[in-house]
Amino acid sequence: MSLASHFATSRCAISFELFPPKTEVGLKALCDNVTRLKQFQPAFFTCTYGAGGSTQGATLDVLQKVRELTGLPVASHLTCVNSTVGELEAYLNQAKERGTDYIVALRGDPPQGTTEFQAVEGGLRYANELVELIRKQFDFGIAVAGYPEVHQEAPDAQTDLDNLKRKVDSGADIIITQLFYDNADYYRFRDNCESVGITIPIVPGLLPVTNFKQATRIASMCKAAIPSELASAMTATDDPADQFQIGVEHARAQTLDLMAQQVPGIHYYVLNKSDAAAALLDGMQTAQPA
Ligand code: FAD
Repeated sequence: MSLASHFATSRCAISFELFPPKTEVGLKALCDNVTRLKQFQPAFFTCTYGAGGSTQGATLDVLQKVRELTGLPVASHLTCVNSTVGELEAYLNQAKERGTDYIVALRGDPPQGTTEFQAVEGGLRYANELVELIRKQFDFGIAVAGYPEVHQEAPDAQTDLDNLKRKVDSGADIIITQLFYDNADYYRFRDNCESVGITIPIVPGLLPVTNFKQATRIASMCKAAIPSELASAMTATDDPADQFQIGVEHARAQTLDLMAQQVPGIHYYVLNKSDAAAALLDGMQTAQPA
């Protein structure tokens, strides 16, 4: 099934993002959680790709496991960090051989200890170049990243949008957004995308936060603002169960509002867990085409 076709129905296509676990215990937990998340009939699962190639093989191992457990399509994230074009092509060939359906094509962050992204000799500088490479030589469905609160390196929102348009023009099928906690940021971004002629599905990315410390750490890494009501509600209690409940309710309210606005899909950054996603999606119609 093509990537775009998941978003061509009136169904809100749910997807879940995983990362390669570091231990056997982590892998066992991931497998249990993937099996649990399958009940929500996601369109596909994705797995992140580590900075500097640290988890390349592990990404494809996770996806192969997920495919065995669920029979669902899988997407590998891929970044340009520390890779020549030849190395990217080799990874894409391997992904193809191992049954990967889609690629989330990214530039990646500057490697640790550096502040500015530098392409390696014979490598790529921006994600639009990776999209072009994949489109020319492979038949994967392609997702790219979009930033409702503007990418941290972009000088302004319009430049960032123009750069996003390059990825779309190079052949991306869908955009998955960076996580955000205020849906107004997504709606503004969606309108702005429309104003520059972007018509492919723009899938909102949500992270159900389950504790405030984690939420602030991730939000600061991704440059996502935490609304003051959410921050005050979470800091008003030290009880982990209360913080979990507050985070889940916030993500559930975001989800219901986005679905009411008929977004094409929702991508959940589940961090290899299932409790929060299961709690927030419980009872929702995520599966049946209308
Ligand atoms: P680009 O689209 O290349 O943009 C990077 C910056 O350059 C932006 O400021 C943009 O405005 C500018 N720009 C883009 N194209 C041009 C151009 N042609 N000329 C001039 N300027 C340009 N990171 C990982 O390491 N592994 C992952 O698995 C991973 N998965 C992610 C999944 C999603 C859904 C998202 C939203 C992010 C993910 N990231 C991941 C983080 C991502 O790698 C970083 O946000 C990175 O800094 C930018 O990647 P990009 O693909 O958006 O880059």
